[in-house]
Amino acid sequence: MNLLALPAFTDNYLWLLHDTRQAVVVDPGQAEPVLQALQERGLQLQAILVTHHHADHVGGVDTLRKATGAPVYGPARECIPAPFIPLSQGSRVEVLGLGFEVMDVPGHTAGHIAYFCPQMDGGPLLFCGDTLFSGGCGRLFEGTPAQMQASLDQLAALPGDTRVCCTHEYTLSNLKFARTVEPGNAALLQYISHCEALRAQGLPTLPSRIALERDINPFLRTRESAVAAAAAGFAPTTDTRNAAAVLAALREWKNEFR
Ligand code: ZN
Ligand code: FE
Repeated sequence: MNLLALPAFTDNYLWLLHDTRQAVVVDPGQAEPVLQALQERGLQLQAILVTHHHADHVGGVDTLRKATGAPVYGPARECIPAPFIPLSQGSRVEVLGLGFEVMDVPGHTAGHIAYFCPQMDGGPLLFCGDTLFSGGCGRLFEGTPAQMQASLDQLAALPGDTRVCCTHEYTLSNLKFARTVEPGNAALLQYISHCEALRAQGLPTLPSRIALERDINPFLRTRESAVAAAAAGFAPTTDTRNAAAVLAALREWKNEFR
């Protein structure tokens, strides 16, 4: 299987998975980059997977559906371009001979879903939309901190070698915040150098890996005492034994961090 991160807008990636004949695209906010990639490689689009309703994730859906006839799969509890096959926790999608398990991961939006393929050459694969970013997480537009904490707990529990396909190149700015939260995290400092080198060459920092995110992403580390203490430094009333409360403080801090 080949995994491509097609750049779109200013910092989105449209993920295209293909076996040199057939392809699946995830969150096509634009149709053009996808149509071009399909044409260049002689690929047939077999399915369009959507994680949530935001325009930068669904903007190309209608055009792609019309151009390719590919079926659209998306979150049962959100309004995305119809018709689509509605999915929720426990649903399965079979495509390219692979099985994707659907997880409910509310927080960024109320009905956000993620797609997890446990078995594939190259390791397990996760399409997590705007729920988890490398070094960060999505803004809480429609969900509560407790919902986001539960969603991130679910993702963090996936196998460590899972490749994490996030939909935005936010890594360096996330890591700048992460370093402020946890200046003594050696794995984090090492990862920052690695990502800076990739970006200097114009390369994506993604996909990431779950094991790495557990070590460096403050939003997956809300039960670490150093992270909880830093959160309480920002919001002194934070209950440091409550992971969701720590997450809420981190998220508010990040929203105003420059
Ligand atoms: Zn979004
Ligand atoms: Fe987005």
